[in-house]
Amino acid sequence: MPRYEYRCRSCGDTFELHRPMAESAAPAVCPEGHEDTVKLLSAVAVGGTAAGPAPASGGGGGGGCCGGGCCG
Ligand SMILES: [Zn+2]
Repeated sequence: MPRYEYRCRSCGDTFELHRPMAESAAPAVCPEGHEDTVKLLSAVAVGGTAAGPAPASGGGGGGGCCGGGCCG
């Protein structure tokens, strides 16, 4: 069962709930009893592309011919 994290806007606390995905959007009640809560984005990575520079792979290597005018 997936884990969802919520934040209470009344007391500022964060708490986790294990509930079915079908109920992920259902209102969550803070352990303190507050109902003014918001669902946080899950910290679980589910695919997607990681941010960051792509590795410089492939190509014809570094220095050498083309670029110096010897190929043309
Ligand atoms: Zn609360």
